[in-house]
Amino acid sequence: MSATIQSRTRISLILTIGLLSLGCISQTSLAQLSRPAPPSPVQYPPQLITEIKKIQQAALDSDYAYRQLAHLSNNIGPRLSGSAQAQKAVEYVAAELRKLGLEVQLEKVMVPHWVRGEETAALTEYAGMAPGTTQKVVLTANGGSVATPKEGLTADVVVVNNSEELQALGRERVAGKIVLFNAKFDQRLADNGFAGPAYGQSVLYRGIGASTAARLGAVAALNRSAGGADYRLPHTGSVRYADDAPKIPAASVAAEDADLLAHLASEGRVRMRLVLTPQTLPDAVSYNVIADLKGSEHPEQIVIVSGHLDSWDLGTGALDDGAGVVMAMQAAQLLKQIRLRPKRTIRVIAWMNEENGLMGGRTYLINHKADIANHFAAIEADIGAGHPFGVYAQGKPEILPLLQPLAVILQTQGAGVTRIAAETGSDIGPLAEAGVPAFAPIQDTRTYFNYHHTGADTLDKVNPKELQENCAVVATLAYTLASMPQSLPR
Ligand SMILES: [Zn+2]
Repeated sequence: MSATIQSRTRISLILTIGLLSLGCISQTSLAQLSRPAPPSPVQYPPQLITEIKKIQQAALDSDYAYRQLAHLSNNIGPRLSGSAQAQKAVEYVAAELRKLGLEVQLEKVMVPHWVRGEETAALTEYAGMAPGTTQKVVLTANGGSVATPKEGLTADVVVVNNSEELQALGRERVAGKIVLFNAKFDQRLADNGFAGPAYGQSVLYRGIGASTAARLGAVAALNRSAGGADYRLPHTGSVRYADDAPKIPAASVAAEDADLLAHLASEGRVRMRLVLTPQTLPDAVSYNVIADLKGSEHPEQIVIVSGHLDSWDLGTGALDDGAGVVMAMQAAQLLKQIRLRPKRTIRVIAWMNEENGLMGGRTYLINHKADIANHFAAIEADIGAGHPFGVYAQGKPEILPLLQPLAVILQTQGAGVTRIAAETGSDIGPLAEAGVPAFAPIQDTRTYFNYHHTGADTLDKVNPKELQENCAVVATLAYTLASMPQSLPR
C-alpha cells in the first residue's frame, strides 16, 4: 500500500484497516473468534466446497508466487512509474500470464514520470560544532518534489511537531527557512495491531507539509520519515502540492536525523545545506496488465484479483506491492494447475501507478464504465505479505454471511475472520465507489511500515510461508466469488 494516494481517502483507508485489525477487536469478539465457527445458514454446493479446499491446499504447497516475486524484486528491481523497470515488469507479467493460457491485454495508462536525483543534506552551523566540520543528515526526496538549485540551498532550520506550532511561529519566523515537521510514528500502536493509524498520523506532513510551509514563505520542507524504521532508513512517498502555494523542495528525513535536528534546534541556530535534484519529465505511456481466465457460465461477469506492479524506487518493491501482484497471478496459476474453471471470469490485474498518481485504477474505471454492472467483485492485496487473518469486504454488511462457508475453510489456517472495511485497495477504490463489492486480505502489519517505501523493501522481508498463506486466502476468495451461486448485494 501506499502511497500516495496522498489523499484523505488513503489515510482513511489506512485508518480503517488499522482499526479493524485484531488489536481493536473487543474481548467479546475475540471470545467469539476463538470458538469454532457456527454452521453457516448460507450454503455453497458440496463440489464448490471441495474445490475451495483443493485450491487452499495447493496454494499452501506452492512456491510459484515466491518465485515470481523473486523475479520481480531481484531480477527486475524497483518499478517506479515511467521507468525502464516498470516497462520490463509489464512485459514480464503479461508473458507469464500468457504462458498460463490467459487472454492478456495491455491497457494504456499515461503516468507521471519523476526521476530521483542527488539528495544530500549537511548541517553547516549548530551549537557546539567543531570548526571546519559539517554533520550529515540522511534524507530522501519525496516523490514529485521539485528540485533545489543544482548547488543546493542553505537556510536555517525550524523544527515543529505539527501545523499548529508552525502557524504559531508566523511568517516572520518561517520565511526563508527550511521547515522540519517532526511527527513521530507511534510504534506502540503498530505493535498492537494499529499500524494503519500509526502510519496515517505520521504520513500527514509528507503530503501537506510542503504547501503548509510554503504558504508561510519557507524555502524547503522536510518531514520525519513516516514509518517505524530504525537504522537511519528514510521513507519516500509522494508530496501533495496544493494549487494555492508555491512548490518548494520536499524530503523525508530518517527518524534519527529528525531527533538530531530537534535536539540541536532546541539549543540554538541550525543551518542546513540541502541538495535535491529530482526531475519531473513529461508523462509517460505505461500499462495495466489485464489477463482473463474466462468463466464457464457467466464469462461476461468479472471478478478482479489484483495488486499494483509499480513500486517506489528506493527498494525493490517486494512488499509494496510485488507481493500483491504475485498473489493475484497465483490465483490464476492454481486454477490452471488443478484444472478448475470458474463460472465467472477471473480477471488478474497488475495495476500501474498506484504510488504516485493512481492513473491505472482511474483509467480502468473510465475505460470500463459502461461495463461496471458486470463487475461482480474486485480484490486487491496491497499491505505486504504478513500472516493473513481473513478477509475485509467493502460494501454492504450482508456480504459477510455469504462468505461464511469460505471463512470456515480459511479458519483451518488461522484466516477465518471476516470484517467490513470502509476501503480495501486504492486501485480498486474507483470501482468500489462505483458500487462494485471490493475485498482485501486482513494481514499482520506490525512490521510492514518499517520497510514500506524504504530501501529495505526487499525480498528477504517476505516470509515464504506467510506468502503462501496469503495466496491461499486470495486464490480461494477469487474462486469463491467467481463460482458461488449467490450474487452479492450492492
Ligand atoms: Zn502499495
